[in-house]
Amino acid sequence: MTTFREELDLLKKQGLYRTMRLVKGAQQSRVVLDGDEVIMLCSNNYLGLADHPLLKDAAIRAVEKYGVSSAASRLVSGTMELHEELETCIARFKGTEAALIFNSGYAANTGIIPALTGKGDIIFCDRLNHASIIDGCLLSRARLVRYPHNNVAALRQLLVENETDGRRFIVTDGVFSMDGDLAPLPELVALKKEFGALLMVDDAHGTGVLGTTGRGTAEHFGLLPEIDIHMGTLGKALGSFGAYAAASRDIVEYLANRARSFIFSTSLPPAVLAISIAALGLVCSREGASLRKRLSDNSAFFRSALEDAGFDIMGSETQITPVFAGDPEPVMEFSNNVLDRGVYVQGIRPPTVPAGSCRLRCTVMATHTRADLEQAVLAITEAGKEVGVI
Ligand SMILES: *Cc1c(COP(=O)(O)O)cnc(C)c1O
Repeated sequence: MTTFREELDLLKKQGLYRTMRLVKGAQQSRVVLDGDEVIMLCSNNYLGLADHPLLKDAAIRAVEKYGVSSAASRLVSGTMELHEELETCIARFKGTEAALIFNSGYAANTGIIPALTGKGDIIFCDRLNHASIIDGCLLSRARLVRYPHNNVAALRQLLVENETDGRRFIVTDGVFSMDGDLAPLPELVALKKEFGALLMVDDAHGTGVLGTTGRGTAEHFGLLPEIDIHMGTLGKALGSFGAYAAASRDIVEYLANRARSFIFSTSLPPAVLAISIAALGLVCSREGASLRKRLSDNSAFFRSALEDAGFDIMGSETQITPVFAGDPEPVMEFSNNVLDRGVYVQGIRPPTVPAGSCRLRCTVMATHTRADLEQAVLAITEAGKEVGVI
């Protein structure tokens, strides 16, 4: 039997070893990383809300009024007023009858999917869905059918071939977290209707960002009422922490009875709930609209500058902009060389993405200046030439 040290050495040899870097102070568009100021180009803090004064203030006031902990699962020590208030806000935001808070996106996906599906059911899952969705599918004991990324014709064929007396459940990212492209929601909605399936959309990266009022990928397509289960996270564009399912009253009530990550875990503390409530208000305000405009202008500038420089941005349509690099070795050297030029990006490797599709995952923020983005493009271009990506 090998030791864990030997396993770690093997990971290093394969270029798959992971480390963490120390960031000083708050998450912003520029941070001090291991002692040097760099442009932050890898956070999901898309609107720059992670240190917004209104959100900090909401947290402080909640601590003073409600203390610092919820002390138990809500089924044990009760729902606090802020849980109820946040769920009302989320349901209104997504236009659903009800909503249920989860402690994180990971906890939501590993709770919702096994609660709603089980033996005898079939889950149809996009190949590039987030790892937490895959884990939720594996926990469910339903049959798992993975369809080629965004391939509606292949999905339809699989729906024809895989019949069941149980439930059919289609699950997709709204914005794909490592590719920055969108799920073809109009076609998925048509298929779920044709085959009587349920459709769940994980909108971790669309919530707060897409749609004229920030309600996400479904709003972008004008399909908010057509999604059976809206899952989304509060720790990305919303600058807070946690996640939710927004759905019919029946589904939400069922999840509160059956989702194990909801039942068997201490609920989010008051400060975090208050931050999320304030963040939803902000996203729906005029300030939110102008932050979204800045983010989409910045993203469009960044994507076209990278394409002009000769990079393959893998079909990105959003603030998530991958830069294709191929294998693990060049991608890590690539990201290190970009960092040497004062720009912090992450190289993404298996198992996060399929083998052979390693990439830099660049994420643009509303709070980046044009000069930040120009410096970033220059750094990526120079480093890309060094490692032979362009
Ligand atoms: C980040 C992410 C999650 C997990 O959310 P956390 O709140 O960070 O646990 C789930 N799904 C997708 C698509 C994500 O990008």
